[in-house]
Amino acid sequence: MYDILIIGGGPAGLTAATYACRAGKSVLVLEKAAFGGQITWSPRVENFPGFLSVSGNELGDKLLEQAMEQGAEVELEEVTGLEKTNGTWTARCDSGAAFEGRAVILAAGAHPRMLGLPREEELVGSGVGYCAVCDGAFYKGKAVAVNGGGNSALQDALLLSESCSKVYLIHRRDAFRGEQKLVEALEQRENVEFVLNASVTALLGEEELRGVLVEQEGRSREIDVDGLFVAIGHQPDLEAFGQWLDRDKAGYADSGEDCLTVTEGLFVAGDCRKKAVRQLTTAAADGAVAALAACRWLDR
Ligand code: NAP
Repeated sequence: MYDILIIGGGPAGLTAATYACRAGKSVLVLEKAAFGGQITWSPRVENFPGFLSVSGNELGDKLLEQAMEQGAEVELEEVTGLEKTNGTWTARCDSGAAFEGRAVILAAGAHPRMLGLPREEELVGSGVGYCAVCDGAFYKGKAVAVNGGGNSALQDALLLSESCSKVYLIHRRDAFRGEQKLVEALEQRENVEFVLNASVTALLGEEELRGVLVEQEGRSREIDVDGLFVAIGHQPDLEAFGQWLDRDKAGYADSGEDCLTVTEGLFVAGDCRKKAVRQLTTAAADGAVAALAACRWLDR
């Protein structure tokens, strides 16, 4: 039995592990895919304090190394449910494994939101993608579109413009939500075209994507592309834990700034928590707050 089970090995979960270990607790971090979480999709991170520029993968590796150095144990396991019996939590995993803990920190993160267009799921991997870092290389020398107006879309467009012949950045408003510095960098790229006040309304092509239909200020426009990268935000990965949480309309876990949930012994940190700013820094900050709250709760 561990003092604290941490579900999710992104910046929130790994920071929580570091803090909890330093407070003398035994900690197990359960991660379903890649330690570092969503940050491993970022080619370059330039706004994490202390790092002028670092790849998301490298930062993820460093967070993992730091947590393990402090004594955290880690497992690659997908947690499919949580049970609580006589004050002991059991995390059940899809492999059949089960792990016990006295407290749980949910730092499960979020996954990319889909556009909800007909045939979108069918075309995933055949032109439609959600991670330019992972799949961008397949489109070298080709025309692609990115849909979205946040930092993810801007970063994806920048990355793709380095290897693709043309990048259309399609956004439903006339101004981007992401950082001005990224917008300015994109304005310098000759192969980038902004398609503003525009929505993707259909995916064209049979087995492979060959273009997108866009509605722009009352007119339809067909844009020929081999790839569409959807970067329109995220949804929290909390489906398996709903019974233990209060959640907002978008599904994010309600908690105060203290990261406490409505359930005794259950804490929440990072992008799956309801909050105004979802950044690496706020995820790491949540990890520290949740870990210290969990330690206080265990020592009560
Ligand atoms: P985001 O900031 O929530 O932006 C989502 C974008 O998609 C918005 O522009 C939104 O439009 C648009 N959108 C939402 N639903 C849509 C729909 N159904 N159809 C068309 N467009 C839609 O998401 P994100 O870019 O993934 O970023 C998430 C968080 O991670 C942010 O806090 C961001 O700053 C952070 N991040 C940081 C880095 C880094 O390097 N530090 C990198 C990536 C992301 P509206 O503007 O109209 O709402």
